[in-house]
Amino acid sequence: MHAEHLSKTFDYSTDRAFAERMDAADVLRPFRAQFCIPQDDQGNDVIYFAGNSLGLLPKTVKPIVERELEDWARLAVDAHFDGREPWYGYHEQFRESAARIVGAQPNEVVLMNSLTVNLHLMMVSFYRPSSDRFKIITDWPSFPSDIYAVDSQIRHHGFDPEQAFIKVRPRDGEHLIDMDDFVSQIELHGPQAALVMISGVNYFTGQFYDLKRITDAAHRAGCLIGIDLAHAAGNVPLALHDWDVDFAVWCNYKYLNSGPGTVGGTFVHERHAKNVELNRFAGWWGNDPKNRFMMHLQPEFLPVPTADGWQLSNPPILAMAAIRGSYDLFDQTSIEALREKSQRLTGYLEFLIDQQGKDRFEVITPRDAERRGCQLSILAKRDPKALFASLHKAHAVGDFREPNVIRVAPVPMYNSFVDVWRFAQVLANAGGGDLHG
Ligand SMILES: *Cc1c(COP(=O)(O)O)cnc(C)c1O
Repeated sequence: MHAEHLSKTFDYSTDRAFAERMDAADVLRPFRAQFCIPQDDQGNDVIYFAGNSLGLLPKTVKPIVERELEDWARLAVDAHFDGREPWYGYHEQFRESAARIVGAQPNEVVLMNSLTVNLHLMMVSFYRPSSDRFKIITDWPSFPSDIYAVDSQIRHHGFDPEQAFIKVRPRDGEHLIDMDDFVSQIELHGPQAALVMISGVNYFTGQFYDLKRITDAAHRAGCLIGIDLAHAAGNVPLALHDWDVDFAVWCNYKYLNSGPGTVGGTFVHERHAKNVELNRFAGWWGNDPKNRFMMHLQPEFLPVPTADGWQLSNPPILAMAAIRGSYDLFDQTSIEALREKSQRLTGYLEFLIDQQGKDRFEVITPRDAERRGCQLSILAKRDPKALFASLHKAHAVGDFREPNVIRVAPVPMYNSFVDVWRFAQVLANAGGGDLHG
């Protein structure tokens, strides 16, 4: 399948008519109408390429959140059992959809808390350092929240991040991590490491790591592996169960369009999830729901033998209702269909950027479409801040990462080929006088 994908070449063209033809032939096109797209002052759709930071609001969300508000008004506490979607087991309805998104068995996933909280909860169970094995190996650059979480876990166990926090970096002068280097670093440090804790798609470069290969290398070295899927979930195909990943966490507000700061997701491989003896920080919602309300009569914690066993609190229904609205759209298509369009869409953006000359822009994201998701990270070679300001002025929404990288993500669920074409026009025109002034 890999080779077949690589040989799939598209004949892109720079004219707008080409983009319009691609949109007309796009089987996912109807999804765009399911989203609220921000407008500029003239009432035109902005070019929204920030779905890797915050996905757009699906129109399916509002009625579902309103339904829960109505049930709260009408039934109050009784909505836990008598609501249209009873709150008591509210989290259970997400298993199938979430499992499809990350390539898991339904009993391996649960939506709860937020990403960084889940990262900590997972490290409580899966980072159990000893004097022989205390290191955590990560990819670099890493996202600040992940750095703080890993660093503080190491300190919490009385180790020194100076020795214990191992960062696998791109070679000097390069932007991406060579997969052979990744594996050899794991072989080098693995015997002293407890955990390999990496991102699935790097937030800065957009590099999609070979997660199966890294998982195998981690396991060969006797380490557990956890993956932060913040930039991977809903973006690239994942097979966490088959790859044998130990745990993973993700957020639902980036490619999964479920609202700012909403509840995150956690994957625990079945072989751990079934192990009720496994050490964890416990709360009542992780307890067997049948005797959860025995309260002080049965104070012993009996974890659910699935990923649910890591839940602490009762779920925030309003936030989770928004996720339901968004996951309903993912249920109407497939990660494969999204991936197919995504590779064309991002490939088209890459093609149009390449037309503008290497002296202006360099795409640092992998050129191999199999090794990236939607996002392209563009290194601006001339006056990057002014460039970003002109994008802003033209209502093209991406983001800027110091010192000179612009990240843009055409998202297959709602972006169009004409969006990409318009974005390239803005980039081209941003090269004018106001850039150098
Ligand atoms: C977005 C993102 C986060 C955000 O963490 P929250 O706990 O949801 O605020 C963390 N890590 C990575 C890699 C991210 O991309």
